[in-house]
Amino acid sequence: MIKIEKSDRLKKLPPYLFVELDKAKRAAKEAGRDIIDLGIGDPDIPTPGFIVNALAKAARDPKNQRYPLDQGLPQFREAAAIWFKKRFGVSLDPETEIYPLIGSKEGIAHMPLAFINPGEHVLIPDPGYPPYKSGTYFAGGEPELMPLKAENHFLPNLKVINHAHIHKIRMMFVNYPNNPTSAVCDKHFFKEVVDFAAKHNIIVCHDASYSEIGFDGYKAPSIFEVDGAKDVAIEFHSLSKTFSMTGWRLGFAAGNKDIIAGLAKLKANVDSGCFFAIQWAGVAALKNYDRHIKSVLKIYQERRDILVDGLNALGWNVGKPKATFYVWAKVPPRYTSGTFSKALLEKCDIVATPGNGFGENGEGYIRFALTVDKKRIKEAVKRIKERLT
Ligand SMILES: *Cc1c(COP(=O)(O)O)cnc(C)c1O
Repeated sequence: MIKIEKSDRLKKLPPYLFVELDKAKRAAKEAGRDIIDLGIGDPDIPTPGFIVNALAKAARDPKNQRYPLDQGLPQFREAAAIWFKKRFGVSLDPETEIYPLIGSKEGIAHMPLAFINPGEHVLIPDPGYPPYKSGTYFAGGEPELMPLKAENHFLPNLKVINHAHIHKIRMMFVNYPNNPTSAVCDKHFFKEVVDFAAKHNIIVCHDASYSEIGFDGYKAPSIFEVDGAKDVAIEFHSLSKTFSMTGWRLGFAAGNKDIIAGLAKLKANVDSGCFFAIQWAGVAALKNYDRHIKSVLKIYQERRDILVDGLNALGWNVGKPKATFYVWAKVPPRYTSGTFSKALLEKCDIVATPGNGFGENGEGYIRFALTVDKKRIKEAVKRIKERLT
């Protein structure tokens, strides 16, 4: 027998805080309890049929069955550039400024490996999407947390970043519309980020995976709508949430060509690209964006209203998020994130994610994902009313 030991890098990862909740959830399901799962940010809406059809057709063509490699399908990058121009008014060169990803998560997690040396610092929002931190650890970098606080509209305060070691900071992650807080930002904030990054020589990674999930007419900006952004930034786009394609694994990086080239060099040594047929499905998705998106937004917006209005009728004080399919709510008094999520599961058979699972500044919050239908959301509110208040 050999001694099997994980690498120091892997050991350094923060403990997975949802383990206990996951176990409890599985046990409850196995016991036959009727669980309403508002835990995972994974759309229940099926991928539109026209996208599935495009995949099926492309999958039959032997040309699409070989290694896609590197930049992949030119038509996908061109479709992404055309979509970007229409949606944000920003021109991107599909040869050098757009790069396909096997879902944006891998691009995000690989960024530090491509650009961070051991000991260098990476600014990370807290609470935040876990791969920002794990990717940093894998590269031997040091995460430096930027707290997202309600009093600052869940935007990081760049003025309080520790200037004693600002020269060590090489990269920063920002994410708007934000998971888990569902906060949005405006172009002034992006301008502040871009100026800060240019001044201190920092690569900006903007995670735009929820850019298309906006309500009441809200349309999130791209960081590239701001002057100077292309000098410092890369933006991660995903088809997962927009087109209900989480299982397909397709996204793209956009932005500064030298940053794209660095990520591309790393990826060329790690993976061999996204299946061509999936990229063709992505072409179909992006080309039909306008005709698809309204129906999806209508569904999430209705669910949002049912949950937020329902909770507020019980005396909660939850604002209506402008974007994302999450509701980020303060837990009732006398609870912590952990005790409240436990109470929801034990007393109401509801799964929701404790805010502290996304970082210490998420303590005191719970995240509800709007990924079940209206009827079930109504039922969830009813159970909270009858069993918890
Ligand atoms: C869902 C999500 C992603 C990426 O999803 P992919 O399916 O890998 O494209 C990225 N960032 C955040 C914050 C997300 O919630």
